[in-house]
Amino acid sequence: MTELRIAIVGFGKIARDQHVGAIAAVPGATLAAVASRNASLPDLPHFATIEELLEKGPPIDAVSLCTPPQVRRAQAAAALAAGKHVMLEKPPGTGVAELDPLIAMAGEAKRTLFATWHSRHAPAVEPAREWLAARRITSVHVSWKEDVRVWHPGQAWIWEPGGLGVFDPGINALSILTRILPKPLFVTAAELAFPANCQAPIAANLTLTDIEGLPVTAEFDFRQTGPQSWDILVETDKGRLTLSGGGRRMAIDGNTVAEAPDEEYRELYRRFVALAVTGASDVDLAPLRLVADAFLLGRRTIVEPFVD
Ligand code: NAP
Repeated sequence: MTELRIAIVGFGKIARDQHVGAIAAVPGATLAAVASRNASLPDLPHFATIEELLEKGPPIDAVSLCTPPQVRRAQAAAALAAGKHVMLEKPPGTGVAELDPLIAMAGEAKRTLFATWHSRHAPAVEPAREWLAARRITSVHVSWKEDVRVWHPGQAWIWEPGGLGVFDPGINALSILTRILPKPLFVTAAELAFPANCQAPIAANLTLTDIEGLPVTAEFDFRQTGPQSWDILVETDKGRLTLSGGGRRMAIDGNTVAEAPDEEYRELYRRFVALAVTGASDVDLAPLRLVADAFLLGRRTIVEPFVD
């Protein structure tokens, strides 16, 4: 197998926590360089910007964009123009339409554009999808509540326009929902709580449904201290499914039936390597469209300022 030589662009929390280890573990993937203004790895070529990497760097086949969403579109366009395959961290963009020209560029250049949804690769997500396929779903509730100070320390970009605020984790729940439910969802109402000093919400309640009128509710909150929750409850005609731990555990009527160690990022790189063989793309915008619609429909309240 030819090695896919990958450069990580934007060496922050997720690059450090997940991408480096996943690339090292996946056959056919090699970390060849880092482009980041302030961070580097020992013994690896380092460049401050993606432009410098593409101009002066070692031979690479692909970039993995781990920068905040506000700067990723331009970086993806530069990489595709230089003939590189592109892996996008989630969310794939700050808006939905900005993906269209990237998809077209990738298609014309026969290069892979891979918009990743890491939570879809959590180990209990596919078992949940299969279990639900044989049942009649009667309601769904999502509780995605985490402490922003613990999980996103110092990430000022998350509070800026395009940073998504609490939808940064909330979109992970939507990526799972849009995978495990049989029919497309749409948003019918949303309440968004904006800190007085921020451009993105700190909490959101969504009401969604599908063509059959399925009742779906979601609570996203960044102010959770104590126990954190990344849970989805699905009531069906033949029992209650609970997906917890962000898709890592599945229980039926309280009894755990699937649980496995986290392989999310290894799965992403396995897929990236496979896609790059033919230059095929994988861009599913369904979760981002739901977030965009929540912003379109959302009733806004202003809450106390957020201080990190
Ligand atoms: P982060 O810790 O802030 O890292 C992003 C890095 O990108 C920064 O360290 C910075 O490195 C670089 N960067 C920041 N602003 C930039 C700019 N204006 N231009 C160019 N480079 C810039 O953020 P993160 O948590 O790793 O998240 C990055 C993306 O991954 C987000 O979309 C997030 O949703 C996604 N993600 C995060 C997690 C998580 O648990 N943190 C999990 C899954 C997915 P330099 O200063 O060195 O340039």
